[in-house]
Amino acid sequence: MYDVLIVGAGTAGMACAITAAGQGAKVGVVEKSDHIGGALHWSGGHMSAGGTRLQKSRGIDDSPEKHYQDIININGSSGDLELIKLAVEEAPRTINWLEDLGFDFAPECPRIIYGHVPYTLPRTHYGTNKALSIYEVLKPLWDDQIKKGNIDLFLHHEWKGLEQNNNQFNEVITENSDGEKSFFGQNIVLTTGGYGSNPSFFSQKHPNTPLMSSTYPSATGDGHQIIEKIGGRFQYAEMHLPSLGGVELAKGRCNFNEAWAMVLTSVYRQPREIYVNNQGFRFMREDEINADTRERLAIQQPGWTFWLIFDEAALLERMENGIENPIMIGWDTEKIKAAALEERFLWKADSIASLCQKTGLPYNNLNTTISGFNTIVDQGNDHDFGREYLKNKVEQAPYYALQVHASVLVTFGGMKVNPQLQLLDQAGKIMPGLYGAGEFLGLGATSGSAFCSGMAITPALSFGRILGKTLTK
Ligand SMILES: Cc1cc2nc3c(=O)[nH]c(=O)nc-3n(C[C@H](O)[C@H](O)[C@H](O)COP(=O)(O)OP(=O)(O)OC[C@H]3O[C@@H](n4cnc5c(N)ncnc54)[C@H](O)[C@@H]3O)c2cc1C
Repeated sequence: MYDVLIVGAGTAGMACAITAAGQGAKVGVVEKSDHIGGALHWSGGHMSAGGTRLQKSRGIDDSPEKHYQDIININGSSGDLELIKLAVEEAPRTINWLEDLGFDFAPECPRIIYGHVPYTLPRTHYGTNKALSIYEVLKPLWDDQIKKGNIDLFLHHEWKGLEQNNNQFNEVITENSDGEKSFFGQNIVLTTGGYGSNPSFFSQKHPNTPLMSSTYPSATGDGHQIIEKIGGRFQYAEMHLPSLGGVELAKGRCNFNEAWAMVLTSVYRQPREIYVNNQGFRFMREDEINADTRERLAIQQPGWTFWLIFDEAALLERMENGIENPIMIGWDTEKIKAAALEERFLWKADSIASLCQKTGLPYNNLNTTISGFNTIVDQGNDHDFGREYLKNKVEQAPYYALQVHASVLVTFGGMKVNPQLQLLDQAGKIMPGLYGAGEFLGLGATSGSAFCSGMAITPALSFGRILGKTLTK
């Protein structure tokens, strides 16, 4: 019987296991895949906290209270406010802990990030290697605890069910090619992540919502399905919001790290293109700064997809300091031109008519939209949408059409817990022996109905640590 039995060796699971083992607990971890780390391998790793040592050293006067206030201003006081409080209170301790472990902060941190609605203070912290910077400091601790025999890790063990004994959930049943196996724990911590890589579960929870997923492949909602079946309460699906900029690399899949258009905000790159929906019509001012406004306008478009239409001059244009700042994050112009030849998500043509033939965009509408926009640039007044950055017409062949999607990076729905992170059933009663952390709780719980920077990965680490401490007392 383990003191703490953890299901899922990802962000929250690793933090929990290391903390519990560090306090002398005997920890078991079952993990379905062949590796640990989960979404840390893909995540941007932006963490947010108010009142960290690093902030103080930079003269930033911040606190958990200010962080909380910003969050509820951004999300309209939505989400689980008790969990948000718990998350922001623990967040500076989590960041300081990472710092103590030798975390490699990017030199510009902490920063205000505009890819989500910005906080009022610089409080987003991240490493030089995205979330892998987190993995890199956790892994040696993990290996050490495994070596000491304090953590037993069972890879390739897919959790399939739970059993109660003496009115307490203490048995986790896993399955693999060797068959079924039971593991026993005084306390069971569920950290199986989100569900964005399970299209059928996603569509069950979000009917009529297109899924273009950029989530880690193991995010298949196993925990949600198992816990819902035994009476757990799934909530916050209605808060679902996607992130803008994914391009379809494989059917239904985008990848934030491989190919992503810079359309989250216009703060980092003024738009030299127009955005049109599938009908060829503009639907927003492309230089809108507010990420939340952009996301909500994009999901009003059919299929939650839109097109960036630009010409050769826009593609080649450089910033005033001569540096390239192309539409695809981290790409240069040559790479974009090469992608246009592949015609997977980017098309190039010598005329608007031919571009429409290739993409299926309706010619009459798009042509009217483009000539209307070119007139707007001449007049210097976007009476349709109020765009202020009006430097580029769409007039010099070849023309380009880049299709982008509102894509899922994190899922908002998740299982209900109380402020002690104990799982609750439909009636609000504690499910004895069961605890949860991470995306299993849903981004809606810790970020509410809007994206607040760092409010997925920081609570995952923090709640993992809190459980690691409290369950070994
Ligand atoms: C591209 C990308 C960028 C992101 N950027 C940010 C960011 O900048 N800031 C931020 O706050 N958040 C970000 N996120 C979200 C954040 O990284 C995740 O929400 C968080 O890391 C999830 O942690 P977790 O522990 O809940 O799940 P994970 O880290 O995904 O771990 C879950 C683990 O459970 C295992 N598991 C699943 N089912 C089973 C089963 N049946 N049996 C056994 N094991 C199982 C999985 O294999 C996995 O190892 C990003 C996500 C993505 C995909």
